[in-house]
Amino acid sequence: MRLWRAIAMAAAALGVSPAAAGFQCSRVPPAGPSLYWNTRALTYAINRIAYPPLPAQDVYDAVRVSFETWQAPSCSDLSFTLLSLTDDRTAGYNWRVPEDNENLVVWRNGDAADPADAWRHERGSIAVTTTTFNSRTGELLDADIEFNGVWYQFTTCTPPAPGCTVAYDVQNTMTHEIGHFFGLDHPLPTEPDATEATMYSSAPRGETSKRDLAANDIEGLCFIYPAGQPTQQCFPAVPPAGSDPIFSQVGSNPDTGCMCSGDGATAAAPGGALLCLLAVGRRRSGAGRRAR
Ligand SMILES: [Zn+2]
Repeated sequence: MRLWRAIAMAAAALGVSPAAAGFQCSRVPPAGPSLYWNTRALTYAINRIAYPPLPAQDVYDAVRVSFETWQAPSCSDLSFTLLSLTDDRTAGYNWRVPEDNENLVVWRNGDAADPADAWRHERGSIAVTTTTFNSRTGELLDADIEFNGVWYQFTTCTPPAPGCTVAYDVQNTMTHEIGHFFGLDHPLPTEPDATEATMYSSAPRGETSKRDLAANDIEGLCFIYPAGQPTQQCFPAVPPAGSDPIFSQVGSNPDTGCMCSGDGATAAAPGGALLCLLAVGRRRSGAGRRAR
């Protein structure tokens, strides 16, 4: 067992963040249990429209490869299966018909004649992941990833391919968002090598380095979903969890500077968190790009 894992597991047993390992787990805000899927076999669907400036198949392939990247480390057995292309463009959770929910990857491209094509999050977010979870336990119920094709130009090419100038790389962005999809948050900027992580909150134009996982990304994955071992929470629910789940909508991360707006908490609606990748250059502060 590597040292970081021993530290992390001991910390989890105490209900303390395994921050020594460098990764961060997403939590039920503000300081509730950390988020996890109660399955290792996750599925997703891609909206067939994708991003019209690029060949749709190139976009689908970039999404699929991004999921495969997180599926590769042998220390975890979390898996992702592409169910289908879909016409569904609704992010969030249908709590009236739970069986209708699917984990969706969708672009918003700004067709003025199509309200569903509008970008409804912060302009500076390159992409946003909306997760829905049981706020008592942290169990994830749904995760949807939206790409901001309204304000950002996406590419899929890889230099030095002829004519390739990377703008906002689909795979770079997607790989980051998948971390949020299964329960990781951004590493704290003060952590050593935080900027090297796929889960780092910023992504400059032209970046492709988040296509590949850094050590602390893999450590986070394998801490929560260790191969052949029970799923672990960085912050377990404090028993008793209660008999009536309460769901809430959440959407900001003051620790990392991501400022996606939430939908407000209600007792009736399933809960969720919005995690985004923000673009620095487009913010009035002139600061850079961030991802949630
Ligand atoms: Zn992010």
